[in-house]
Amino acid sequence: MTTDPTGMCNVCGKPGSVHVTEIRGGVKTSRSLCIEHAPPEFRAKLPFGPHRTPAEEVAFLRSQISAIDRQIEDPAQRAEFKAEVEELIAEIEAGRRRLGEAY
Ligand SMILES: [Zn+2]
Repeated sequence: MTTDPTGMCNVCGKPGSVHVTEIRGGVKTSRSLCIEHAPPEFRAKLPFGPHRTPAEEVAFLRSQISAIDRQIEDPAQRAEFKAEVEELIAEIEAGRRRLGEAY
């Protein structure tokens, strides 16, 4: 399982989803699901949400920033997305927001 904030939920279309890749019978299927629609066993492994501390959420976001360089090719889009993540980190560090709420 990987998390991919650039993906859309396959169920409701909300952005900020968990990317679930399963291999069954040699066939690889990928699904993107938001935190609400992710299966409970995946939700428990998520790097954000009520079961995580704010520091863990910030660490996850910082890892996402390095992933953005690989995932988004358009420099303008990448800069915009990074700025959004940085803002979210600042909000979490200030105790004003939790990552689970943004999803
Ligand atoms: Zn959903």
